[in-house]
Amino acid sequence: MNPATIIELAVGVYLVVVALLFGSFINLAADRLPRGESLVHPRSHCRSCGRQLDLLDLVPVGGYLLRRGRCASCGAAIGVSSLAVEAACGVVMLVPLLRLGLGGGFLLGSALVLAVGVVAVGRALGQRRPEEL
Ligand SMILES: [Zn+2]
Repeated sequence: MNPATIIELAVGVYLVVVALLFGSFINLAADRLPRGESLVHPRSHCRSCGRQLDLLDLVPVGGYLLRRGRCASCGAAIGVSSLAVEAACGVVMLVPLLRLGLGGGFLLGSALVLAVGVVAVGRALGQRRPEEL
């Protein structure tokens, strides 16, 4: 494998990891914005027991699978939609990168990650009960 290919592969992996992290942030936004909460503070925590999430919990897709979709402390279920949003962000970045290469793939992948965010957060905002509006 020549050095240019190795660099291209490393950049592609990096972009998919960043897309997965954006998926995690989209989940946070979809959870907090409908409640009128800050996107920055407090740190991510379990809605059921309040435990602050650790590094393992925050690994996109992998954290959900390792914890089997449950809080490590209280066992409260974490919605499968969080896994779906994170995985979707990774896939919508990976596929364009594989098909179009770094340049076009990054542009299309970024637009699709943004679209996933708009749909997920819009859906969460639309699920507020009428008395909360
Ligand atoms: Zn918990």
